[in-house]
Amino acid sequence: MPRELLIQVPPEVAAQQPLLIPHLAKLMHVSPADITHVAILKRSVDARQKAVKINLKVAVYLNEAYNESAVLLPEYREVSNSREVIIIGAGPAGLFAALQLIELGLKPIVLERGKDVQERRRDLKAINRDHIVNEDSNYCYGEGGAGTYSDGKLYTRSKKRGDVDRILRLFVGFGASPEIMVEAHPHIGTNKLPKIIKAMRDKIIEHGGEVLFNTRVTDILVKSNAVEGVATQNGSTIKADKVILATGHSARDIFELLDRKKIHIEAKPFALGVRAEHPQKLIDSIQYSCDFNSGRGEFLPPAPYAIVKQVNGRGMYSFCMCPGGVIAPCATSPGEVVTNGWSPSKRDQETANSGIVVELKLEDFKPFAKHGALAGMEFQKAIEQKAWHLAGETQRVPAQRMVDFTQNKLSADIPKTSYVPGTTPVELGQVFPGFLTQVMREGFTEFGKAMRGYLTNDAILHAPESRTSSPVRIPRNPETLEHVQIKGLYPCGEGAGYAGGIISAAIDGEKCALKCV
Ligand code: FAD
Repeated sequence: MPRELLIQVPPEVAAQQPLLIPHLAKLMHVSPADITHVAILKRSVDARQKAVKINLKVAVYLNEAYNESAVLLPEYREVSNSREVIIIGAGPAGLFAALQLIELGLKPIVLERGKDVQERRRDLKAINRDHIVNEDSNYCYGEGGAGTYSDGKLYTRSKKRGDVDRILRLFVGFGASPEIMVEAHPHIGTNKLPKIIKAMRDKIIEHGGEVLFNTRVTDILVKSNAVEGVATQNGSTIKADKVILATGHSARDIFELLDRKKIHIEAKPFALGVRAEHPQKLIDSIQYSCDFNSGRGEFLPPAPYAIVKQVNGRGMYSFCMCPGGVIAPCATSPGEVVTNGWSPSKRDQETANSGIVVELKLEDFKPFAKHGALAGMEFQKAIEQKAWHLAGETQRVPAQRMVDFTQNKLSADIPKTSYVPGTTPVELGQVFPGFLTQVMREGFTEFGKAMRGYLTNDAILHAPESRTSSPVRIPRNPETLEHVQIKGLYPCGEGAGYAGGIISAAIDGEKCALKCV
């Protein structure tokens, strides 16, 4: 039996077995030659002291053989002729629901408005280079959903470790690095995600499921308060008495459809703000207390940060921070701009970006009250459209240097940032309602006190970061997970208000599938 130990070591020891083995041997009073293998079970960075340390949980094998066990996928069944369940949306919620259905012996029919991962790349290029937004294929829509061209951070606030580990194991089974099972803050990276997503699709098809791209659902067919199937934009209808609705937080047409059909939905508070970009070297120097010029060294990863402050009774916090990452144009319709961030697996870009957002309350949506349950969505849309207008009606975004923003001063110039479509200098107070601007001005000042060096004119704010979570909740029965009114309709994932991020969306997809039996 291996011996498990919790140790704290310098980064260079954690990264190199020839240093780690003698360190462990000394600790365990054995000879290095007795250690046949060291398996890292968990790894995290402890940057609280001046000298950064790595926390490791290790299993040390003494004089015994070590057999690496491959991560095996569950047994998927052949479902070509099984009962069909429609899944709308091929994001993490939809894909993990489909795989779970196949495990259960049911046939998923996945309907996705966007294109497959490969084809989707062209549309991302068109947004970045030509400012053209395809309403069905963009950073939020297409195979893999909003998670495909993301940072692929795989951490969640979910306390259910078993559920999280199962999703991580499946990701590894479909091609992610086993390291994600070890890291305290695992991530996959934009360059690796598409292959993993394709492997999931191949598995669904191999076992008799269907995945239809370029298939936007335009109606949900309901009779006597029970779902009967869906209609698609190409005029066809597909029948099934169970429909998992996993269309994500940007599917405004779906929210409008439900509202029009008087299928109950509710406005939901979310958070909104800006995406801040700093030089990664600056964040490293703040987080690791290292010299800006000599840098963090070769054994530490680009530093992340997480910060939260209460300002005027509202939380202002960092969201989806991407070390060594890039800011992406995430609009889903022409006439709006939206930001978010991604990073490659190595996180080797020179900039660090993070959403910095303020929590909203339902009462903030009052000016849009005539839209009923869609008031929050209209609030969000109005800010995205205003930003588009102020920045010149392309995919350029309004931008301002951070100190200038706190001082209500238009920046004289904006240096080139990682946001490829470009920026326009705008006083960002013009983009947001006054109360939000006020909170952000005070909040950034507070952030500067908590993280010395953070409040700087070398940091550029891009507006807006507005798709943090769904502005609508689609209520469901907590037991059956069916919509409160409509039998057989399963509101699922982030768009319905039951997830926030890749892992929790995947968990919710599986939960809904389990209820379809
Ligand atoms: P989505 O992923 O939004 O998927 C919904 C799918 O439904 C889409 O593919 C869409 O095309 C499809 N659809 C919508 N309407 C229709 C229709 N009418 N008919 C058919 N199909 C439809 N989360 C993390 O945990 N870690 C990260 O690092 C991270 N980084 C991100 C970076 C970016 C750039 C973005 C945009 C998001 C990021 N997120 C991240 C958020 C994460 O991607 C989402 O939380 C997650 O994808 C939600 O999963 P979902 O399946 O519920 O919805």
